Amino acid sequence: MATTRDYYEILGLERGASDEEIKRSFRKLAQRWHPDVNTDPDADERFKEINEAYQVLADPQRRQQYDMFGRAGVGGTGAGAEGYGPFGGFQGFGDIFDAFFGGAAAGGARRTRRPAGADLRYDLQLTFDEAVFGAEKELSFSALDTCETCDGSGAEEGSEPTTCPQCQGSGELREVRNTLLGQMVNVTPCGRCRGTGQIVEQPCPTCGGEGRTERKRTLRVTVPPGIDDGHQIRLTGEGEAAPRGGTPGNLYVVTHVEEHPQLKRDGTELYLGLTLSITQAALGADVPIVTPDGEEMLEIKPGTQPGTEIRRRGKGVPHLRRVGARGDLHVLVDVEVPRKLSDRQRELLEELAAEAGELSADGETSPADGPRTRHGKRSLGDRIKDAIS
Ligand code: ZN
Repeated sequence: MATTRDYYEILGLERGASDEEIKRSFRKLAQRWHPDVNTDPDADERFKEINEAYQVLADPQRRQQYDMFGRAGVGGTGAGAEGYGPFGGFQGFGDIFDAFFGGAAAGGARRTRRPAGADLRYDLQLTFDEAVFGAEKELSFSALDTCETCDGSGAEEGSEPTTCPQCQGSGELREVRNTLLGQMVNVTPCGRCRGTGQIVEQPCPTCGGEGRTERKRTLRVTVPPGIDDGHQIRLTGEGEAAPRGGTPGNLYVVTHVEEHPQLKRDGTELYLGLTLSITQAALGADVPIVTPDGEEMLEIKPGTQPGTEIRRRGKGVPHLRRVGARGDLHVLVDVEVPRKLSDRQRELLEELAAEAGELSADGETSPADGPRTRHGKRSLGDRIKDAIS
């Protein structure tokens, strides 16, 4: 989907914004909408849009053309149409990380356009505990990997690839045209060497000159504590190998987290439903509860009402970013009224009622005490849902 919004509007800026403002706003938005971090289904699109706007506005020449001629002045979709992997278009990561980590300055050295390896996706199943406390997992999969016979060059042993005469080794053909908007450079991958810049006269017998072969690979990945369902872990350069030694793609590990039978998770917060008997609620009790750290005793104070929330601080899920910080465990209390009573239990409850002045001497309910309305009474499941949404 090509975006049509104004680039300044995308970055939340005025037309005359300074370079510093553009950079600052870009960083803020890119960090917020980065698909590694943001699980919003629109995050991918928003991130691309932000990246595209920045590509243009950070480059003084392209910005000027955009200010004068709009999108037509900067060639539509802007930079980085390459690198679409099976993941649905995560191009432009390099630019983002250059910007984050102070790599190539805006408008600085341009990378050659050698064909890159495709990005790969790996779906990783995690238990509730592995997601909460982190884990080391082994990934096994088949992918195109650098050919071991020729070490990725694609040339037979003893021979060397030679520089492509068509593009002089750059891997791309440039066509310069003079247009209304000034000089426009049209860059296309060289067809003779398929963008690699090199010609293999005697291809490697193992890979047929590709420089890569399909192989089974095993990788270890560290799952950080606090990861959630649908998060992505990026393993840079662990995707498909590129033909003849180009930049390999990335591997995106997408997490799938099993639900806990009792604890419901919402980010760093956990919710537990706890049903007490009327005597536990009235008299107080120590009851065992499930926590991520194992079973613990929870003190119930005398006179605890249904609907009470008891919060155990720091017993939730660790924060992914704030190391050492953990969310809370929210215990939502319900009180169950017994449906069947033994004779002795009935006797005791009737005594209790008499003590409270609720029963007449012959055991009949006094007329003033009709059945209570049930409005406002909600099930534990509904309350947990309310708490999470
Ligand atoms: Zn080979």
